[in-house]
Amino acid sequence: MEVFSYERVSGCDDAVRLMREDPASVLLAGGTELANWLKDGIVHPVRLLDINSLPGLDLIETKPDGLRIGALVRLADLAADPKVRSGYPVIPEALSRSASQQLRNTASMGGNLLQRTRCPYFRSQADLPCNKRRAGSGCAALAGADRGQAIFGWSDGCIATHPSDVAVALAALDAEVTLRSPAGTRNVPVTAFYRLPGDEPHRDTAIEPAELITTITVPASSVARRSWYLKVRERRSYEFALVSVAAAVDVDDRSGTIRDVRLALGGVAHGPWRLPAAEDALRGRPVADRSRVLDALEKDFAQARPRRENGFKIELAKRAVVRTIQLAAEIGS
Ligand code: SF4
Repeated sequence: MEVFSYERVSGCDDAVRLMREDPASVLLAGGTELANWLKDGIVHPVRLLDINSLPGLDLIETKPDGLRIGALVRLADLAADPKVRSGYPVIPEALSRSASQQLRNTASMGGNLLQRTRCPYFRSQADLPCNKRRAGSGCAALAGADRGQAIFGWSDGCIATHPSDVAVALAALDAEVTLRSPAGTRNVPVTAFYRLPGDEPHRDTAIEPAELITTITVPASSVARRSWYLKVRERRSYEFALVSVAAAVDVDDRSGTIRDVRLALGGVAHGPWRLPAAEDALRGRPVADRSRVLDALEKDFAQARPRRENGFKIELAKRAVVRTIQLAAEIGS
């Protein structure tokens, strides 16, 4: 049985100070992922810091220059917000495909971004080699089941994928995460927030000890209003993505050509994976011409390094990108 103390924190300064004083502290917000970590023995906290009373972090603000989401906003509340639904539809669509309604009612946005991989070896209660769980112990997935693992950006240290749906939507919209520490605040793009595994696979994100996510900011853009999320999974509900796509597109409705587009993939890498070459190549192409849209993906997908069992993700992801762009373009047309 794990024994730990519980403390309710009422200010951000107190939270980061306590985290710095005691690195074995673990933050409690919605607690849905923390419950998994405790059950699986992934964390062994000495002290839980309940941050649910931190002021201002439960707000959703839509302004002309963009959207601000407090880290304590619950997934269900963000998904139901009318301005978010009309101005940034990719976000509620991604949220609606995450977990169950009960979990979405409880889970916080900050906690969702800080989920850890669903790699079965990482989550196993058996003591298996896992560099993410125990640095330097090896990676059981390299010689094991790799169907759900990464095809982009993996290393010999870790081939896991990140499970967050909404992180993929936020990456496509060029969102930033604001981090608070005893030294002040800093903003990190969501795309840079998630690290590649490299030779430090135990580090999932750019977050440093004693740093706290306070806010997620999504800038206003010409592409946000026509944006969509498509999640491909092995069963219809309560399942993580084999492949997912967030697409945000600005289309000239008279000519049907793409003026601007943002694309991010989920289920294929250690974090959301943008497709920059495809975004460049797609500008000026007819959105309805599937073969030309597909053709624009080739350069980015040439970087894919499938493993024994997950080569199917390449074709699946390409087709999902084409479909998601078209679904996004149909919004409001
Ligand atoms: Fe651990 Fe990563 Fe290997 Fe999975 S893929 S066993 S998380 S090191």
